[in-house]
Amino acid sequence: MTAQIIDGKQVAADMRAELKAEVAKLKEQGIVPGLGVILVGEDPASKSYVTAKERTCEEIGIYSDDNRLPAETSQEELMALVEKMNNNPKINGILVQLPLPKHLNEAEVLLAIDPAKDVDGFHPMNVGKMVVGEKGFLPCTPHGVIQLLIRSGVTIEGANVVIVGRSNIVGKPLANMLIQKQPNRNATVTVCHTRTKDLAHQTRQADIVIAAAGRPNTITADMIKEGAVVIDVGVNRVEDATKKRGYRLVGDVDFEAVKEKASFITPVPGGVGPMTITMLLYNTVESAKRKQKTEDRRQRENSD
Ligand code: NAP
Repeated sequence: MTAQIIDGKQVAADMRAELKAEVAKLKEQGIVPGLGVILVGEDPASKSYVTAKERTCEEIGIYSDDNRLPAETSQEELMALVEKMNNNPKINGILVQLPLPKHLNEAEVLLAIDPAKDVDGFHPMNVGKMVVGEKGFLPCTPHGVIQLLIRSGVTIEGANVVIVGRSNIVGKPLANMLIQKQPNRNATVTVCHTRTKDLAHQTRQADIVIAAAGRPNTITADMIKEGAVVIDVGVNRVEDATKKRGYRLVGDVDFEAVKEKASFITPVPGGVGPMTITMLLYNTVESAKRKQKTEDRRQRENSD
């Protein structure tokens, strides 16, 4: 069997087109969703990520309030800016680009973000809501993985899913989202990590394998069953003298061999990666819609 390649770029582009149409409708009602972005320091990867977010905001019609601060910014200055964004009615989502420089307290900053504007879904309030299955904001990369599965026609309900990786930003939230008792979830999930006794034994049972280990070749063809769906979240740099920049990006899966055995597979790059920013903007539009609903309800209550 040769796998169908899941084109993350295309799925993300489709979702962005849907968001653009939704934003145009909101604008007719005088609502412009806004994203506040905070980048501290000069980390090149963070800078290019933030630039991509700003470009995508423009494409969709989302107002973006960009704040690029010097590396020596103090905790107090950063907390003051978050507070200002919390109180700014033009901003529906706040994104603090991580990692922050070492002298800054990341946890304190994330906790200061108004949970109603926490479009990254990292605030403990939103993490708690996700675990108990209440409506909050879902973290972008795991939510992007689920959207890729659904939009590729993969059945999640009742599937045996094996996730390799238990980080707070990918593995754990993904497991929590997939076991929810709701449509397009209801999976049976196993979460593996470096202390898992026999990883290959676990992955061979899976209808869907999701690799989020951050190590090339963690999943090889002998580790999956014929026809399994394989989603590769990993992004790893491997040396490559033929490339101008001296490296190329690969995932955690031995793509060439695994694609001959899987039914669906995501490439790296061009699989999960393009979904992350799209899901952030999805949350921002969602936040603007929820705020409007709350205001409409208040107005109705006041006029009763
Ligand atoms: P992380 O915090 O380093 O976590 C990696 C997890 O994988 C850990 O739980 C670790 O187990 C487990 N692991 C590592 N090697 C393993 C092995 N050989 N066998 C079994 N488990 C193993 O990484 P992360 O932040 O979750 O990111 C994972 C990967 O996804 C990275 O390559 C990252 O760049 C990528 N990523 C991509 C996106 C995107 O938008 N495409 C977004 C986020 C992350 P222990 O807990 O036991 O250490």
